[in-house]
Amino acid sequence: MTVKVIKDEIAAKLALKNMYKLLMEQIGLLLSDQERKFVNELQAFCIDYEPKIDMSKDVYVNFPALGSHGYIQRLNQWKEFTDAGCKYEMLLGINLAMMDPELDLARLASGILCGNPTFQHGGTPELAKVQDELMSGKKIGCISMTEPNHGSDTVNMEAHVTKLDDGYKFDGTKIFTTNGPKADYFIGYGCVDNAQPRQTMVQAMLSRDMGITTERITIPVVPRVHIGKTYYNGLKCPNSMVTGQPGIGYNNLFDGLVPERLAIVGSSLGIAWSALLTGVIYSSMREQFGKPIMSYQAVSFPFADLCIRLSSATITAFRIAEIYDAKILKAHKKDIPEATWKASAQWSSQIKQLCAKLSHEICYETQQLMGGVSVTDNTRVAQAKGVSDIQEVIGGSRGVQTLILAGNLSKLIKGI
Ligand SMILES: Cc1cc2nc3c(=O)[nH]c(=O)nc-3n(C[C@H](O)[C@H](O)[C@H](O)COP(=O)(O)OP(=O)(O)OC[C@H]3O[C@@H](n4cnc5c(N)ncnc54)[C@H](O)[C@@H]3O)c2cc1C
Repeated sequence: MTVKVIKDEIAAKLALKNMYKLLMEQIGLLLSDQERKFVNELQAFCIDYEPKIDMSKDVYVNFPALGSHGYIQRLNQWKEFTDAGCKYEMLLGINLAMMDPELDLARLASGILCGNPTFQHGGTPELAKVQDELMSGKKIGCISMTEPNHGSDTVNMEAHVTKLDDGYKFDGTKIFTTNGPKADYFIGYGCVDNAQPRQTMVQAMLSRDMGITTERITIPVVPRVHIGKTYYNGLKCPNSMVTGQPGIGYNNLFDGLVPERLAIVGSSLGIAWSALLTGVIYSSMREQFGKPIMSYQAVSFPFADLCIRLSSATITAFRIAEIYDAKILKAHKKDIPEATWKASAQWSSQIKQLCAKLSHEICYETQQLMGGVSVTDNTRVAQAKGVSDIQEVIGGSRGVQTLILAGNLSKLIKGI
């Protein structure tokens, strides 16, 4: 039960509808009429739905409600939900993360990390069924890529795949599988020859009933999301569930990382806007020494600095999403120049790194500017801060994002 720390009139001003109003004042100009309509409907849904969320329960009970509105993901068109693409997905992530960042994390793992391969590499009736089950929120998905001994170095995985007449047998152990302990479906990876991952990596949609077991890992900052250790116990996967045959699985892994990272950007931005706007509203009403604390430059100037950086990051993120939509997602695959793929890998990596780190900094700094109330459950900041703790490490840690950029920089000299 929440013990009241905050004044009622300040709590009332922190209503989600006010947060969204201020958000739209900041980002509204960056949206087309169609995107604005999408966001208005999404925000109306969230304002109505937020009081129905039971924070003492795991997030998964909310999946069907998201699914019925096409809000498990918006990277790809599914059924009548045609407002789709990377920018729509970012807008979805921003608004859902402002409502409930743990729910947003879990739905992103299910809808994007697990669901996207069904759009990009599907084509069988079995995969179409999985797609419908995931997108409707009736089933839960995850991606099981990272292994205990291979995190950043995930390509050199130990999970082994054996070719059978009608599919593949998977053996191996994965770790940090977001949603894993609750999941019905697992995008899985393994190699036919582990010494040759580039040529032999397989990607497949594995289901729990094929022979997967899981254990939950305790991750205190996201108590309502289950993250686990996943065991492929010699499971047999039929060809109809394979999304990347040997070698193609490797390409799929890397192509998938770009939209995955851009989707994580949406969550990071939502977390950051949530904390910042909460801080600004609260500080404009909280009085000390007879004045609102916002009237002290020690409070208002740092907020202004954070806002400059967050607005700039948001504008950049949207532009990258628009370019990804036009030049990759909605382009004919065979017409996409190599340079575009490379740029998308670099841009998604750099904006993911920037926004993930910024979300954490904004949550922490906002807490220092707001004072004690911000670490309680009286505002959204403490939960946002918790999820911001993991934004950098999910989707590839800081060192790996930096490695990608450093690698590109060191090759620049060859071009002159
Ligand atoms: C909460 C959470 C959820 C996650 N969800 C999923 C999921 O759903 N599915 C999934 O498959 N994985 C998931 N992951 C795994 C995540 O992608 C990995 O944690 C991440 O890739 C880093 O791997 P690692 O933790 O093994 O760290 P390590 O690879 O051991 O890295 C440790 C440190 O060394 C640095 N480092 C490593 N190599 C280099 C290098 N070459 N150059 C510079 N620095 C380097 C890293 O940046 C990091 O700082 C999740 C992780 C967490 C914590």
